[in-house]
Amino acid sequence: MHKIFELASAGSLWRGVDYYKKRKVISYSKDGLLYTGLVKGRSSDYTPFRSEQLDDAPIYHVTVNPEKPRSSTCDCPFAKDRHVVCKHMVALFIEAEPEQLDMLYKEIKECAEQEQEEEQRERISRREELEREARAMSRIELERAYVEKRLDECVEELREERW
Ligand SMILES: [Zn+2]
Repeated sequence: MHKIFELASAGSLWRGVDYYKKRKVISYSKDGLLYTGLVKGRSSDYTPFRSEQLDDAPIYHVTVNPEKPRSSTCDCPFAKDRHVVCKHMVALFIEAEPEQLDMLYKEIKECAEQEQEEEQRERISRREELEREARAMSRIELERAYVEKRLDECVEELREERW
């Protein structure tokens, strides 16, 4: 994951992606290692689903330093004079390097797949463990364990029905 994405909070990251998609980045240019540009903020009478909106959205001056994200700047109230990555920086950065967004999506997908594989492995090893346990039990112990387990499941079902 790129440093900019890593340093942004989850909220700033996904709002930034949203801003990029809604084309809130008005302009940008590359200035050495820096990206400099203007990003539109939110209008004060913002109400979703309303077609006519007064367009009094503020416009923020943003610089993004991809190598040193903490020295990026934005004059929005959230980031002003603080060393944080805001949604406007995220939006501007993606506008300048759109392939970074594809990479982010790809990483998230791979992460989810990995989790699934791990879960599958855990299931298999848990099953083997249970089989070993069951083999070491006498018939009476097995019967008792079965009843206990079914009882727990019944209680669980009842609880779910109640809520
Ligand atoms: Zn900002």
